[in-house]
Amino acid sequence: MIHLKSKEEIAKLHRAADLVSRTLGMFAGEIKPGVSTLQLDTLAEEFIRDNGATPSFKGLYGFPNACCISPNAQVVHGFPSKDPIKEGDIISIDCGACIDGYHGDQAFTFAVGEIDPRTARLLKVTRESIYKGLSQVKAGNRIGDIGHAVQRYCEGYGYGVVRDLCGHGIGKKVHEDPQVPNYGSAHKGELIEEGMVLAVEPMINMGTYRVRQLKDGWTILTNDMKPSAHFEHDVAVVDGRPVLLSTYKYIDMAQGVTSDEEKPFEYNWE
Ligand code: MG
Ligand code: MG
Repeated sequence: MIHLKSKEEIAKLHRAADLVSRTLGMFAGEIKPGVSTLQLDTLAEEFIRDNGATPSFKGLYGFPNACCISPNAQVVHGFPSKDPIKEGDIISIDCGACIDGYHGDQAFTFAVGEIDPRTARLLKVTRESIYKGLSQVKAGNRIGDIGHAVQRYCEGYGYGVVRDLCGHGIGKKVHEDPQVPNYGSAHKGELIEEGMVLAVEPMINMGTYRVRQLKDGWTILTNDMKPSAHFEHDVAVVDGRPVLLSTYKYIDMAQGVTSDEEKPFEYNWE
């Protein structure tokens, strides 16, 4: 069942999403060779708790950590580990926080130092694809319009769009209806309505779209062991149009870059 949210609830979801965005922003200065992903996870949990929130993923379906951290060929649901990060790695971090009963859920794939130019393009295109999807989150459209836009854009570069995992509704639970696939047909699926809040999260592989799960029961990695990127934003339908609840501005600020990609999705929260 799809729970549509009031503007008051959307404001609370924005608060939670913004805290996750600030947590990811903090990572931008911390991800460097020699640091372990477990150290990053500890930092995230401390930051979330210091801000009066709880890490949404810790204990969710039995997951032990605050963040899913998935390097290189890992797609999603990787465990933070003691292995040190290396120059040239890409690190996908997926993080969630709950404040006042409402969740935020966001992901970003970070480059560690100089990375292979082909991998850099995968990150760029996956990040761009999320906005192709978000622009479809309008009242009157259908859920299939989102995945259709993401798929078209990414397959145009020859990339594999992961089928086995998808985005979702978000609210008082991290994962709510509807499911939001990153592939599919335009004009198909559930109707997008005022008050709908979604986590849109393209998982895009450099090679095949096929993935497999490790015996740990969690870690998803690409079948061909080529790299995979994961970007995720929370978005609400307000006044019929897509409004971003999460932001990459803290990451961009920390990395000294500017972008106007979020402009069409801004909202005056005052
Ligand atoms: Mg997530
Ligand atoms: Mg999610």
